[in-house]
Amino acid sequence: MHREYIKKLADRLKSIHLDKEVRIMEVCGTHTNEFFRSGVKDIFPEKLTLVNGPGCPVCVTPNDYLDRAIEIGKKYDPIITTFGDMIKVPSSYSSLGREMTDGMDVRIIYSPMEALNIAQHNPDREIIFLSVGFETTAPTEAVAVIEAKKRNLANFSILPGNKLVPPAVKALLDAEVKIDCFIIPGHVSAIIGEEIWNFIANEYSKPSVIAGFETPDLIISVLSLLDMYLNNKNEVRNEYKRFVKKEGNKKAVECLYEVYEKEDALWRGIGTIPESGLAIKDSYSEFDSSIRFPVTPPPPKEPIGCRCGELLRGIITPPDCPLFGTSCLPESPVGPCMVSSEGPCTAYFKYRSE
Ligand code: SF4
Repeated sequence: MHREYIKKLADRLKSIHLDKEVRIMEVCGTHTNEFFRSGVKDIFPEKLTLVNGPGCPVCVTPNDYLDRAIEIGKKYDPIITTFGDMIKVPSSYSSLGREMTDGMDVRIIYSPMEALNIAQHNPDREIIFLSVGFETTAPTEAVAVIEAKKRNLANFSILPGNKLVPPAVKALLDAEVKIDCFIIPGHVSAIIGEEIWNFIANEYSKPSVIAGFETPDLIISVLSLLDMYLNNKNEVRNEYKRFVKKEGNKKAVECLYEVYEKEDALWRGIGTIPESGLAIKDSYSEFDSSIRFPVTPPPPKEPIGCRCGELLRGIITPPDCPLFGTSCLPESPVGPCMVSSEGPCTAYFKYRSE
């Protein structure tokens, strides 16, 4: 039954004929991967182009964040905890992986609560969590900070680097990047709700779809976008209603803004976007590593020849980068887009080779 259902959807997509180019941006790195993995990208109508967006947190984190983390590691000798993706990301002059081999204590964790437990069991060490993510992970990190306060864990802090996705989409629209429609991340929307995306239709007259991650979700999202685009209907459609509620997850948002407040933030390849980052509020400043461990990192620099910035703005696709698959490979990445599992270059490379 499931198989037949997918086949019917796929046949509908295959039957569409476009007489002009349509560019869809999948904002989220998980969608990038799923379009490849599921094979849905292979049945796109001719002239339908999928471009990547700024939805890979590791990719959009500017080098100066990692430079700062490494400087803190060198100067204060803490235990640095992080999600695995960050280990291989090249910083301006090194990487966490390289620093580990030089003795820096860096540990991969799967949840910020693990970092909290490490702090509890190592009262004589400082534990720093590298807090890089979007609305999906930031509430859990806020809970960890609230919990650290409750437990009086003075040796736990986080280096804030979280970002908010809607302002980045708005920045791309303001920059007039050529995108006709948007696939909006379902997991981010599960937290922040549907209505926050209305600006895409109301202010920029573009259709968008909140999409899930399974094969039928992907096909339905593209069919829905094409229906709107070809019929001049500019709406935000929620095609992931089983998880995304109109109002989002109010409890998660409440936790988020208990600890964080919005601030302007620098995005790789895009620049500074107003109110697109999350800073720790004064009332929790004792858990802010950037305040507790001051450092002056050397001036940041970008990897020579890397075109991650243009990728994250939907201007090019990975094969347009001359380093793709030559000097830039998953085992020796030049830029972050070839590191993260959500990075567009990783997805293109992985599925190109299979
Ligand atoms: Fe950067 Fe490598 Fe991607 Fe090129 S292929 S944009 S160098 S990450």
